[in-house]
Amino acid sequence: MFFVFDLDGVLYRENKVIKGAPAAVCRLRELGNKVAFATNNAMLSRADNLKKLNKLGFKASLNEIMASAYAAALYLSGKNTKGRSVFVIGEKGLKQELRKVGFKVFSANGKTPKKTDYVVVGIDRKFTYKALKIARELIEKGAFFAATNKDYTYPGKDGLYPGGGSIVAAVEAATGVKAFLIGKPRPFMLEILLKQEMIKRKETIVVGDRYDTDILFGKNAKVKTVMVLTGVTSKSEAYKYKGKAKPDYIINSVCDLGKLFKLHDRNNN
Ligand SMILES: [Mg+2]
Repeated sequence: MFFVFDLDGVLYRENKVIKGAPAAVCRLRELGNKVAFATNNAMLSRADNLKKLNKLGFKASLNEIMASAYAAALYLSGKNTKGRSVFVIGEKGLKQELRKVGFKVFSANGKTPKKTDYVVVGIDRKFTYKALKIARELIEKGAFFAATNKDYTYPGKDGLYPGGGSIVAAVEAATGVKAFLIGKPRPFMLEILLKQEMIKRKETIVVGDRYDTDILFGKNAKVKTVMVLTGVTSKSEAYKYKGKAKPDYIINSVCDLGKLFKLHDRNNN
C-alpha cells in the first residue's frame, strides 16, 4: 500500500512529535509499504521539510515529500518558466522553489516590475498593505493568480494563527479574482506522487487530520482516506460526516494504521 501522510497534526504538532509516529511510519515501510508526505504548509521548501522530518526522527527522502511551495513551482513551470516572472507574497521556502525552476522572483521588499506573468500567494508572516496593493495591480494587469493553499488558519503555540488562506482572501477581495488553488484539496499534489511512484489509486491511502483539506484531497483523487484525531479535528467533529462525505476510517493516531489495515509481521503473526 501507499500511505500519503499530512504532516502537522498527523506526525507532529508544530515541533513536537506525535507519540509513536516515527516508529509507526518506519514499521509500515518495513512491512513493504511505500510512504510519502504531502503538506499545504508553504513556509518551507521541500528540502527544509525533509530536514525537519529527519530532525524529528522520521526517515524520508526528498522525492517522498510533496509540499505546496514546491507544487506551485511545479504547476506553474509546466507552463514554461523561460524569462517568466512571479510576484510572491510568501516566505523564503516558496521563493526558493520558484527560483529553482527558473522564474524571476519579485516581492514587495525589492523593486517590482510593472507587469509579471504570475502572482503567487502563500503564508507570509511579514505580509504588508504594500504587498497587497502591488498584487492587486499586477493581477488587474493580467497576471495569473495562484494560491499555494487556502487554509484560513493553522494551529500554533497559543491557539489558531491566520494561515495563507487569510492572505489569499485579502487579495481575492481586493481584486475580485478567485485564486487558482495548487494545494489540498485540489488533487494535484497527489497526482504527481501517484505518477512518480507508479502506484494505483486503489492501493493509496491519504492520512490527515483536517477534513476540508486532507480528507477532500483524498476524495477528490478517488483514493481511501483516514482521519486521525491527533490534530485539529475532535472526535465528535470527525464523526459528524455522513454517507459519501465520511472519511473511510477514523483512528486515534497513525500508530493504529497497522492494526487497521491488518499489516502484520509474517514472523510474529
Ligand atoms: Mg494537518
